[in-house]
Amino acid sequence: MSCETLNLPVKLGEMRACAKRLLSGISNSSALDVNILLSAVLQVNKDELDIHSERILTSSEQSLIDEFVSRRLNGEPVAYITGSKEFWSLPLLVSKAVLVPRPETELVVKQGLKATRLVENPWIADLGTGSGAISLALASELPQAFIFGSDVSYDALLVAKENRKLHGLNNVFFLGCDWLSAFPQNCFHAICSNPPYIESTDPCLNDPAIRHEPSQALVGGADGLHSIRRIVDSAASHLVNDGWLILEHGWNQGSATRKLMETAGFENVHTTRDLSGTERVTEGQLHL
Ligand code: GLN
Repeated sequence: MSCETLNLPVKLGEMRACAKRLLSGISNSSALDVNILLSAVLQVNKDELDIHSERILTSSEQSLIDEFVSRRLNGEPVAYITGSKEFWSLPLLVSKAVLVPRPETELVVKQGLKATRLVENPWIADLGTGSGAISLALASELPQAFIFGSDVSYDALLVAKENRKLHGLNNVFFLGCDWLSAFPQNCFHAICSNPPYIESTDPCLNDPAIRHEPSQALVGGADGLHSIRRIVDSAASHLVNDGWLILEHGWNQGSATRKLMETAGFENVHTTRDLSGTERVTEGQLHL
């Protein structure tokens, strides 16, 4: 199935309608998907596509749109097709080496800013940084902070470093290491992370879009809490007095994460809900 069969010459409006029809079978955001894909091919703002609906497409534009639509029909996320995703109003480069940044992860940034607002030059860690989304968002808000993003994936770090260059954020440092293993003790005012937290048997892993993402960044062992446990266990020794640990987790992991933090000696442990009302980010404070 493709839009290749449209009568020539093909107008943008016709291509848009055809692509939307095709994608409505696999995506509940087909209109938005098509607008993003077309605007990436045609270099036109996605909100201005209406104005151009009579534009005749060149054959190379048509074949690129066809390629993009068939990749999307195959379940590939729009962000991998266009190579970009906006997070905290920053356009970020993404590839299959990194998770597509999600809007709910902006809550980690929000809580990280809140936790460090009284510190003049905070040191903040972002564990499993991926595309660098959390690190770069924090750095864009806190030019006086020192942000350290770590990841075990060399390919992910290349993407993160490209994004740092793209936004000229010089107060972010990216390191290849396992969670906190390369960092000194008692140095961070906040440790943030969106770790892998999906249960290894969760059927959502068969979702066509999720299947394209790196499972290393998604799957947190049998109960989904493997990485969260490891981070909680090592965080206390890397925080300064009154420092905060801020973790994103799955919709049903709020109570388990609170318990893990409390057992590890964290205080003021509480969970914040995301915009859909789901428990999403749990944080706790360390009093030495
Ligand atoms: N929020 C992602 C999802 O539910 C998972 C991200 C993660 O495991 N850190 O698809």
